[in-house]
Amino acid sequence: MTVVPSHAVGRVAAGVFDSVTDAVGNTPLVRLNRVVDDIRATVYVKLEYLNPGGSVKDRAARGMLLAAEASGELRPGGTVVEATSGNTGLGLAAIAAARGYRSIVVVPDKVSEEKKALLRAHGAEVHVTPGLRPVDHPEHLRSVALRLVEEIPGAWFAGQYDNAANPAAHRATTGPEIWGQTGGRVTHFVAGIGTGGTITGAGEYLKEASGGVVRVIGADPQTSVYGGGDGRIWYVEAVGHFLHPETEADVWPESYHVDVVDRIERIPDAEAIRLLHRIAREEGLLLGGSSGTAIAAALRTARALGPEEVVVVIAPDSGRAYLSKYFSDAWLGALGFPLTTAVTEPTVGDLVGDVDQLAAPVTLPSGLTVAEARQLVHGTEGLPVALQRAAAGPSVVAEILGSVTAATLADAPDGDPVSAHLAAPLPFVGTTEPLRGAVQRIGDHSGPVLITHEGRVVALVDASCLSAGTVEEHGGL
Ligand code: PMP
Repeated sequence: MTVVPSHAVGRVAAGVFDSVTDAVGNTPLVRLNRVVDDIRATVYVKLEYLNPGGSVKDRAARGMLLAAEASGELRPGGTVVEATSGNTGLGLAAIAAARGYRSIVVVPDKVSEEKKALLRAHGAEVHVTPGLRPVDHPEHLRSVALRLVEEIPGAWFAGQYDNAANPAAHRATTGPEIWGQTGGRVTHFVAGIGTGGTITGAGEYLKEASGGVVRVIGADPQTSVYGGGDGRIWYVEAVGHFLHPETEADVWPESYHVDVVDRIERIPDAEAIRLLHRIAREEGLLLGGSSGTAIAAALRTARALGPEEVVVVIAPDSGRAYLSKYFSDAWLGALGFPLTTAVTEPTVGDLVGDVDQLAAPVTLPSGLTVAEARQLVHGTEGLPVALQRAAAGPSVVAEILGSVTAATLADAPDGDPVSAHLAAPLPFVGTTEPLRGAVQRIGDHSGPVLITHEGRVVALVDASCLSAGTVEEHGGL
């Protein structure tokens, strides 16, 4: 059978393409009707999960890959390499497959299992790097990707953080689509910031097209550096800028043009997650975590606006890739995030009471020496050890590297860093978790258990308190 390219057969119906490369973009805008409550402005969500690779990053992937072909950086038989939290890798893997390239994707270990499986299913080779490494560390995502590029002949590093073809793809597609779809009525554009490609390219286009009318609002996780946070870790994947305490120079991506943003809304994970659950149940849209962050920022923005104003917010991907996280009551409950469904039985939160009244437990910073840690662990049954931070505060669960007890430190040399002598992290149970389930989960563990609320450690209790269903009696707090 001879395949006749569609452009050769004259007029082709809209929505018919020669390859997956051409099928990227032209995603729908869908109005939010119920989660807007009494907001008077119109809020449209741009459903980027309807791209062939499943996310907004298909646009950047296509833009970068075609630019590399055009410049000769990527040649037939070549290998596409990228460091990514997953979606750019999926876009690149899909387009690379269709164009005959091999693809290698380096992802951090916090990336959802579903995303890693999807990458492999697209034929990509997946390298998983440990999280919590400073940017200049040899095990950091980017260092691993760059090493692979050096080793593999014909390899090309996409480099979405600093590749001008990333924002350019959004200037050429996302921005004009939004302008056209709203008939030029858009007044506010809201997007999360990962590499910054989406907000920069689409934001700059919309400002120019509207003669400066369109306001551009960044949606950022509460602790991310972009919005002025201290860079501590958060749980919504793929947006924001984490700052490892040992990172010497905090370099922001070139794909992000800070000037395009008029305002940044800082969104706590719990607000994004609660909204995601509502959107799934009340709007029929199953969206990913960063969509929750972005839509929370869009709703905050829209609340102050009148009925003539039109807010467009980017929903970068689908909730299907996060069924084991934001839509899993087991995952949510263990971290103390809102569950997908209301709980009628007693929870861990009922047991510990008002979290604001709890004294956060002692968490040892990873930079202590063994001698210093010994002093602090003395008289306790064990303490968590978390990534060193200048500004202390309740530790984020994901920052906890392990634990120490007097026994684990007994034979350790005094001057060693405590981080070289860690036992496994202590078990944790979340405030939103049904108490019965939490007790079952920790099984026959005895000794200290961490209590989490919205991803942070808020208390340390003895396991027996949980099974007895009371903390006061055992003086565990
Ligand atoms: N949300 C998701 C799910 C993403 O994968 C990304 C890309 N890292 C973003 C938001 C942020 O988009 P951008 O890189 O264009 O800033």
